[in-house]
Amino acid sequence: MNPNLAQMLVRTARAYPDQAALYLGTEALCTFEQLADRVARCACGLRDWLGLHAGDRVALIMKNCPQYVELLYGIWHAGLCAVPINARLHPREIQGIMQDSGARLGFVADAEAEAVPGARTIVVGSTDYHALFAAHGMPVTDVAEDALAWLFYTSGTTGKPKGVMLSHRNLTAMSRAYASAVTRVVPGDSLIHAAPMSHGSGLYVVPHIAEGASQVIPPSGGFNVAELAGLVAAHQRPSFFAAPTMLNRLVEYARRTRADFSNLKAVVCGGAPLYVEDEIAAIECVGPRIAQIYGQGESPMTITAQPPHEIARAYAVGDLKALASVGRTLPGVEIRIADADDRALPVGEIGEVLVRGPTVMQGYWNNPEASAATLRNGWLHTGDVGCLDEQGQLTLKDRSKDTIISGGSNIYPREVEDALLAHAAVAEVSVLGRSHPVWGEEVVAVVVLKAGMRMTRSELDQWCLHRIARFKRPKAYLFVEALPKNSNGKVLKTALRELLAQGGEQANARTWRWQLA
Ligand code: AMP
Repeated sequence: MNPNLAQMLVRTARAYPDQAALYLGTEALCTFEQLADRVARCACGLRDWLGLHAGDRVALIMKNCPQYVELLYGIWHAGLCAVPINARLHPREIQGIMQDSGARLGFVADAEAEAVPGARTIVVGSTDYHALFAAHGMPVTDVAEDALAWLFYTSGTTGKPKGVMLSHRNLTAMSRAYASAVTRVVPGDSLIHAAPMSHGSGLYVVPHIAEGASQVIPPSGGFNVAELAGLVAAHQRPSFFAAPTMLNRLVEYARRTRADFSNLKAVVCGGAPLYVEDEIAAIECVGPRIAQIYGQGESPMTITAQPPHEIARAYAVGDLKALASVGRTLPGVEIRIADADDRALPVGEIGEVLVRGPTVMQGYWNNPEASAATLRNGWLHTGDVGCLDEQGQLTLKDRSKDTIISGGSNIYPREVEDALLAHAAVAEVSVLGRSHPVWGEEVVAVVVLKAGMRMTRSELDQWCLHRIARFKRPKAYLFVEALPKNSNGKVLKTALRELLAQGGEQANARTWRWQLA
């Protein structure tokens, strides 16, 4: 059997040819039969007109748009690998990913056309774009189970973006796990893409296309809470993925406007900690329709999950422990809580979360050292810390310590540190997250300047603007004489966190001189 993900669309188009496949807002754009036809033509255009070969990488650098779906499936249908890239990244970051992945082609929206000078690009909606669909279709390309479907770029803590290699088998396993343990998808359901399709939301396309659910693209191309509420009311049994900060904004909106969410099937929340009080507020606002997932690019969407009925039951009986957990492992996925030597720890003990199963990535693209370190001893090392209870529920205690999650986006301190360290006046820097009522966390940079140098917050801000995405820029700077370090010379971020918790600026940074001495 051909494990190509595009087979799922072919199957759905045969079973439900007249079902609406794609909406832009409330406007139906095509049926599943029409979508499958366009996808087969697109695949033919990519292979015959553009001369791409099986395994070639094709980048998608667009905010959410209806074409995302036909391109993703066209790429798979042709046996190629998609490289979805967050269009909000800095052009330098986009170029870095294009180069690292060796993408032979990139699809861009008008606004991003300038972002990738030197790369071969096609602007969505252009004459070239339409020409891509001129050919007759072709059968779905046979691929091996481990053939790459999606290179998922996530910045490592080393700061250099790493391409997580996800195969057709990985995404098929992810899709099955979702449908059996998160929500059961039925034909005529809909999926609203309010979160970026280059990241979380795009993966949800797979289980929903497999079962004949429509994809709904908000005209804004992203998250606008009023627009989202309108789309929920207009569509049939809608679900959507939301980072916790998005859920909180939805709750705030629902309280203010008394918007009706009775139509909603599920909000699938994940990507960052969902605090119990926020979870309860959400249930009280939108009803027993909240699901939670815990996953990471390296095992997308699928390490553990809590379906809506389990969260609703925990809420009904006041089981705060269950509400604070991220649920149980998905079918076919195994987790182990391990000590530093990968030995399994007993129930209740806290250790690193390790994962094994068909959803676990093939490794990092062109990065055997990082792959070996993360996939050692046959287990994916998530970098997350947690514990299991007797019922198999996982509670996360901390995430990979240094990652900052601001507004649902991951920001890796090292990358920001690297940008700041490139400045001639900066001697040392450490970047960390400080809790923020709206964004979850905000980026703070603790900076040591070179002797005799002076620097202002706005000068460093300007410097960052030219080097990294806007959302990764520090929102506050703290200038100190020295950074606290352990005997190996590693910066003690815990000490810095304490300093920030105490109000930072008032603390006596000279203490660290004593520690260094
Ligand atoms: P990413 O690879 O960008 O999807 O980020 C994955 C990381 O987000 C995980 O390793 C966790 O640290 C964190 N994460 C994902 N889901 C949850 C969740 N439900 N609760 C807490 N943290 C989560």
